[in-house]
Amino acid sequence: MAADPDIAELARHLDRARRAVVFTGAGISTESGIPDFRSPGGIWTRYKPIDFDDFIASEDARREAWRRRFATDPTLRAAQPNRGHRAVAALVKRGRVSSVITQNIDGLHQASGVPDERVIELHGNTTYAHCLDCGRRYELEAIRIAFERDEVPPRCTGCRGLVKTATISFGQAMPPVAMERAQGETLAADLFIVAGSSLVVYPAAGFPELAKRNGAALVIVNRDPTGLDDIADLVLHRSIGETLGAAVGVD
Ligand SMILES: [Zn+2]
Repeated sequence: MAADPDIAELARHLDRARRAVVFTGAGISTESGIPDFRSPGGIWTRYKPIDFDDFIASEDARREAWRRRFATDPTLRAAQPNRGHRAVAALVKRGRVSSVITQNIDGLHQASGVPDERVIELHGNTTYAHCLDCGRRYELEAIRIAFERDEVPPRCTGCRGLVKTATISFGQAMPPVAMERAQGETLAADLFIVAGSSLVVYPAAGFPELAKRNGAALVIVNRDPTGLDDIADLVLHRSIGETLGAAVGVD
């Protein structure tokens, strides 16, 4: 393989790391065909987001939320992990990466083979649902079949609580357990790799800053400039799959 100084430097960072953390955002999933919901023309710019309070208060809002979820279902179901996800999974398997902190809700890290307990989902997961009161888990397929029959938003069969995709909505508190774990992993890391996040959504974007302040090396791989390029040790404005794949040696 031709020597590429950027890839070589990323590989050196990985070789030196004893405990790395990977932080991923929409950019890694767009390479799997999942649209960046926040980008211009993305679904959230065409429709006003449904706030968590509205979801709780209004059956119409819940119906609309479920309509939208099932409208995006074919895209989500068709998406497969890409080379970037596979490279991250390989790093976890080799023991180089202790945790993957993600802003994504698509479950593609788990689908690529990263064990559940090593994925920290800051914005939850849209591939299943749960009861907001008792936490009981529901698979989407059964909900979809029932919803398409009568468009009645689902309720928990155990406690009658509201059932919602396991995502964090606008206006909903960040999940405290995930935030705490992400902070602990960040502080334990000697290398922090950002892949596919423009680092504009706080508090999530605070983790790379914290890692750097705590003495870790910071590497950013993102198509576009980010708010933290200035403090990073290595910045690569390149495709994530190609870059991580080449540095890790994964196709
Ligand atoms: Zn319940």
